[in-house]
Amino acid sequence: MSDSQRAAQLRERLNDASYAYYVLDAPTLEDAVYDRLYRELQNIETRHPELVTPDSPTQRVGDRVSTKFPAVPHDIPLYSLENAFDREELLAWEERWQRKLETEIPDYAYTCELKIDGSAIALTYEDGLLVRGLTRGDGTIGEDITTNIKTIRSIPLRLRIDDPPPRVEVRGEAFLPIATFEAINRDRAGRDEEPFANPRNAAAGTLRQLDPRIVAARQLSFFAYTLHLPDAPADRVPLSQSATLELMQTWGFQVNPHRALCPSIADVAGYYDRWDTGRHDLPYMTDGIVVKLDRVALQRQLGFTQKFPRWAIALKYPAEEAPTIVRAIVVQVGRTGALTPVAELDPVQLAGTTVSRATLHNRDRIAELDLHVGDTAIVRKAGEIIPEVVRVLPELRPADAIAYHLPEHCPECGSKTLKPEGEAVTRCVNSSCPAIVRGSLAHWASRGALDIDGLGDKLIAQLVEREWVTSIDRLYDLSADLVARLDRMARKSAIKLITAIEASKQQPWNRVLYGLGIRHVGSVNAKAIANRFTSVELLASATEDEIADVYGIGSEIARSIVEWFQHETNQKLVDRLRELGLQLQIGVDADESPADRPLAGKTFVLTGTLPTLKRSDAKAKIERAGGKVTGSVSKKTDFVVAGEAAGSKLTKAESLGVAVLDESEFLRLLDQPPARSNSS
Ligand code: NAD
Repeated sequence: MSDSQRAAQLRERLNDASYAYYVLDAPTLEDAVYDRLYRELQNIETRHPELVTPDSPTQRVGDRVSTKFPAVPHDIPLYSLENAFDREELLAWEERWQRKLETEIPDYAYTCELKIDGSAIALTYEDGLLVRGLTRGDGTIGEDITTNIKTIRSIPLRLRIDDPPPRVEVRGEAFLPIATFEAINRDRAGRDEEPFANPRNAAAGTLRQLDPRIVAARQLSFFAYTLHLPDAPADRVPLSQSATLELMQTWGFQVNPHRALCPSIADVAGYYDRWDTGRHDLPYMTDGIVVKLDRVALQRQLGFTQKFPRWAIALKYPAEEAPTIVRAIVVQVGRTGALTPVAELDPVQLAGTTVSRATLHNRDRIAELDLHVGDTAIVRKAGEIIPEVVRVLPELRPADAIAYHLPEHCPECGSKTLKPEGEAVTRCVNSSCPAIVRGSLAHWASRGALDIDGLGDKLIAQLVEREWVTSIDRLYDLSADLVARLDRMARKSAIKLITAIEASKQQPWNRVLYGLGIRHVGSVNAKAIANRFTSVELLASATEDEIADVYGIGSEIARSIVEWFQHETNQKLVDRLRELGLQLQIGVDADESPADRPLAGKTFVLTGTLPTLKRSDAKAKIERAGGKVTGSVSKKTDFVVAGEAAGSKLTKAESLGVAVLDESEFLRLLDQPPARSNSS
């Protein structure tokens, strides 16, 4: 798309958004998204000044003034603030104002203030009395909302000084504390009204209520940050922003206490960092900090651009959402065969990192997004979360953009993909698909699993590509001679790798279980399962209910395990691993088979409180000895171990004639020789 087409699209979208935001108080874009699209338009206009039109949002402050209230011109225009999105832009601003001075740079300091996310208002006091309150409007003309403003308790109706200057103009931010905002939205939801998108829009909407009683009930608050004294003698005008803030405080205004005088830009950065975290504990919303040159004389020297003061800038907090362009869509195949579509993006700064790929999850999600290659999409990344595409802006779509559909065939092996009923994921089900084999090997070799040092992704890719390794067990057939034939593989490294592979045979059963990569079985779950089912045989013959009986294991995991063992390929894999000498059981001598253990094949039910053993200890002892614990008594139960206050289970055992043991009998049983029928 040409720059001129893109600029036209952006202009229209931003103007629509501004109208929804300023006039309707119902935004259609997230602020951070608006800011980035605005910046994109600004960049195009800088490159091509001929594309600037008079209706471009870059050419005005605020937006149209609504007709609900009388329109009143501001005596002194209300400017907007230039935005910086990161530290470099802040530094660039410092360089810019210093260059603009064209004189030697005098001593300077910055006042840092929190950027309160509310609505700017201008208050006029004559002889100390509040006579008028205006919204910012388009910066030149505001709406007269005096009656509403008088309901805000933190705005003094009369200045608290004896000899006020004849005319005082105070500017600041009217805002809603978060708790009040939430209460208003709860109330609106109760009345089936659309909730406000954020406290800022709620504040702007409230200020423009026609009924001042509603305004009063909503409890707006106000922080003052600018003072104009047009007719005052020079000696009454404060010389700095910090002195201005203090003066306004003594006159009865609420001034935000979290301000700081910073001698250098490094101190400003420190203030920013502190509040980037600290803001979450504030009872009101802030969307960045405002940095102002402290000395009024310096401010005067620098003056204003058409829209901004040159002596101030807003440094915004990192956005978690931003628009960017989807350049391509690639499909990744994971170790479970799941196809994950991934969008390749024009790099964008999000939550402090550069993001150039975002997950699209699955086929349904792509359809829901109606994603086209070339779309402007909104990408979200919060904290450690994987970046994802949350929605697209179809109004910014190039005419030739192509709708995207997930391929019907696996991009790795070409076999037809499958989308199981009721599942969102599309899968490749070819177990020898190179992507699945690579993924399974990487998982097998990973830290929490068999921890095979030196077996990284690149090496795995080579082994799979040459078809030397087509499943996990085949790793153990590799020889140092063969491995040494790989690209850039010294013989010494090959020997080291084979030694590491061999050593992995000593890794305990729970790691092997995790390494098998059964869906939903994480390393913690694997440990819990391996402790209960002390060998692969016990686990393979367990029912879903028995597995789900393990603390912390849900039915989804249990089902997945049972299904895994039903597959012949998996059974063969287990057999091979056993032959190879991997640890498929817990804590027994290598040459003692499970059947050698004292309680092999015996089923127990525990009931009541035992005198010394906790129930979990008793269970562990039974399982270590090869027995099994179930939850209910049946004819198949061999023993019931009963303690104090045993209930219905004991009665049932007695009625079925099942042996009942107390703790000491149970402990004696554990010491008996193995219950083997054919022992010699
Ligand atoms: P701004 O909100 O980015 O910055 C200027 C404003 O900051 C001032 O007018 C003032 O109200 C406020 N402010 C808060 N604390 C301050 C302090 N301590 N000192 C000085 N000023 C302080 O700029 P803007 O011109 O008001 O509005 C543009 C912004 O509005 C954009 O950045 C965008 O996020 C938002 N917007 C959003 C949409 C949308 O669709 N979401 C549409 C239009 C505008």
